[in-house]
Amino acid sequence: MPTVGGSRADWRRPANALRTRRNALTHRAIFISIYPTPPLLVDVIVPRPLPDYFTYEVPAEWAEQVSVGSRVVVPFGPKRYCTAVVHRICPPDTPAPEGLKQVESVLDSRPIVTAEQLRLWDWVADYYLCTPGDVYKAAVPAGLRVESETRVRRNPDFCGKLTPTEQQVFDLLSDDHDLSTAELERATRRNAILPTVNALLAKEAVVVREAMRRSRRPRTQTVVTLAPAYTTDTALNPTLDLLQRRAKRQHDLLTRFLGLSLDADGRLRTDGLPRDELLAKDSSAALALRALVERGILQLSERPIEGHDDAQSALNIKALHPLSAHQQQAYDAITEGFRQRSICLLHGVTASGKTELYLHLMARVVARGGQVLYLLPEIALTKQITDRLRRVFGRRLGVYHSKFTDAERAELWQRQLTPEAYDVVVGVRSSVFLPFSRLKLVIVDEEHENTYKQQDPAPRYHARNTALVLATHAGAKTLLGSATPSVESYHLATEGKYALARLTERYSEVSLPTIEPVDVRELRRRKLMRGPFSPTLLSHIRAALDAHEQVILFQNRRGYAPMIECHSCGWVPRCVNCDVSLSYHRTTGMLTCHYCGYTVAPPRACPNCEGSELRHRGFGTERMEEEVTRLFPDARVARMDLDSTRSRNAYDRILTAFEQGETDILVGTQMVSKGLDFDRVSIVGILDADMMLNIPDFRAYERAFQLMAQVAGRAGRRGKQGRVVLQTRDTGHPIVAQVRANDYEAMARSQLAERQMFRYPPYYRLIYVYLKHRDEATVDRAALTMAERLRHLFGPRILGPDKPAVARVQMLFVRKIVVKIETQASTARARQLLRGVQEEMQAAADSRSVMVYYDVDPQ
Ligand code: ADP
Ligand code: ZN
Ligand code: ZN
Repeated sequence: MPTVGGSRADWRRPANALRTRRNALTHRAIFISIYPTPPLLVDVIVPRPLPDYFTYEVPAEWAEQVSVGSRVVVPFGPKRYCTAVVHRICPPDTPAPEGLKQVESVLDSRPIVTAEQLRLWDWVADYYLCTPGDVYKAAVPAGLRVESETRVRRNPDFCGKLTPTEQQVFDLLSDDHDLSTAELERATRRNAILPTVNALLAKEAVVVREAMRRSRRPRTQTVVTLAPAYTTDTALNPTLDLLQRRAKRQHDLLTRFLGLSLDADGRLRTDGLPRDELLAKDSSAALALRALVERGILQLSERPIEGHDDAQSALNIKALHPLSAHQQQAYDAITEGFRQRSICLLHGVTASGKTELYLHLMARVVARGGQVLYLLPEIALTKQITDRLRRVFGRRLGVYHSKFTDAERAELWQRQLTPEAYDVVVGVRSSVFLPFSRLKLVIVDEEHENTYKQQDPAPRYHARNTALVLATHAGAKTLLGSATPSVESYHLATEGKYALARLTERYSEVSLPTIEPVDVRELRRRKLMRGPFSPTLLSHIRAALDAHEQVILFQNRRGYAPMIECHSCGWVPRCVNCDVSLSYHRTTGMLTCHYCGYTVAPPRACPNCEGSELRHRGFGTERMEEEVTRLFPDARVARMDLDSTRSRNAYDRILTAFEQGETDILVGTQMVSKGLDFDRVSIVGILDADMMLNIPDFRAYERAFQLMAQVAGRAGRRGKQGRVVLQTRDTGHPIVAQVRANDYEAMARSQLAERQMFRYPPYYRLIYVYLKHRDEATVDRAALTMAERLRHLFGPRILGPDKPAVARVQMLFVRKIVVKIETQASTARARQLLRGVQEEMQAAADSRSVMVYYDVDPQ
């Protein structure tokens, strides 16, 4: 029986106490437990990289609203506010910590982060050795976690009602000038303007940073209904009597509810009474409502506001193509595999119809009322693919992309919490953090892509692996798909941990291209190369252009030239912040650092010897584009790399132009290996295979194979075989032979054998520990101390400290320690030990200021 001393959870749970326990003594006990209410304390996650949760008191007026996953505005630091998320409601006997501050306001009557999501956050923070605040920032769109520094501007389309305070803030803003929340605070001479800004955001009167026109979002409201057990007079009357004697406020509210809920015929409305209408902004009524809900007399639910557009348009099964015999076999292998395993790997060559299979699988899940998350690497999420999905799923499809505005992302998030949630969400990395309520299938397309791993900032999570955990928590199945699976996934599939399905043929009569290696070492010696082009490649390009076919040229380096160099003394300009040379960009006419973005005009003369001949060394995509244009003046050339696709639609624009035949030659980085229609591409040139093979990383060969096989997969047209010219100094390289034979299995086997021998994933797990500091001696000392302590605990599983390839980034010196742990060993224990050592380091005076962070499962 709940008593004063019982935990808060105890008096929350037996919501039906009044209904089931009929003796007065019990009732009294419940009332005592509610009055007096102990202060309500909550632990919250703040959007800061701090290892802890922070405790705040919730004022009584908000007590009814707050729950785990609600957003609350809290003071944090001197005169600063931020939007935090409630992680836990503390038991009532929790002692109030010293200097306890109060929650400024509660933003949501329903949690915006579900318990399932918080569970995933906890996993990410723990597994990837980062803080809850890191995860919060990565997971939640900025518009839902406003801080003092957040800049807002007015939405020019807004026409709605505002409260006087909201109006005051709104009037300070203009359409083209943004202000931060802190600036608004100063201008209005009010403290804690954040709740108002949040209210304006919710009304769409203002937008965060990027102002964009956007469609109206469907909204919901909270409605109050009478619990079924109380819908008869015989049940209701004794309750009203009892409340009148024991809890006047609750009695009055219930009476008010009944009065407002009766329709013209004196019958109770079954669709419920809007909560706001019932409370009429009376905060003591809010408390009474909470109590009535706790007791199971009243119920709260979300209901869409009338007039919103219906998301549940019919599924258009007709838009699905009938599967070919091969595809049907693979489909059956997947569904059969899912009976035994929760994860299946689909290994299907390029253009075999993997996407077609996904569509069929998704449609099946949606038809049965389930939800699907379809993950794609950033650059593979194109208009082409969303159009294809849209044809089948119509308005049941939601798209979550980093090129979308924050407001659009916030809208999708909110919508996933309503009964109108999208059935299919196609999205990039961060979409694993969206709310789902009936997730049944996760598809990770191009599962080998390393862009699924976030590098900087923390959380350095792998979206594929996080998706696997998400699916496990939800009891959903996961399909990993690729033409060139990661050897890790392939290993797990061949070991029987994952089910495996194969598609070994391209759809229709399209065949795989022939691959022709060209020995550039020999050609260089004989002075037959023209810049980066071999005569073979040039003649094939010419022939393709003459036949009105298309060409893709792949060079995995952006910019104009990777380096400029003084012809007389060999001086090379380097970044002032990092330990790398600067790349020259022709479009901007500047030298740029690809690590920190530092940009400077190239010197007129060499600062070292005053020589005036500064030469470009090497070829980036910009210089390739220039060379191609010079050699083939009749061709229409386009370039696709990070620099040419910065704006929101640039990538889709370049792709569409190529697809529609408006471009003859497309030059690009690995971006050209994704999402391209191969129909008119007869020639693919891989300009420099060695650059990929020579990267000092244990995954270099695997990655080189994947890149080359994927790019090669763009060649080939109906009825005519495509051709790939693969330029390398080492035609005998095993990877070159494997690419040539399109022999993925041979590559995977040889790579796995090496990984096992040299103790790398998937046989061992890697954790890289990075230490950073402005002062080189300090970071050196700290790294040595830390490695020594770790060695004490982990023995020979610790390597280093070493200087990484780029040993200084953004003015900070970097050291790296490698931890190698047997895959069978407990990683939880390893993480615990690592955290312990880090805490020791932070307690020591000489290493306190050294920044330490981890890269778990580095890519
Ligand atoms: P992948 O995802 O393996 O690269 P896709 O699903 O994109 O392959 O298929 C490649 C091309 O073949 C696409 O243009 C697609 O529309 C077409 N295609 C694949 N399967 C079928 C099918 N069963 N019926 C009609 N067209 C198909
Ligand atoms: Zn010089
Ligand atoms: Zn730099």
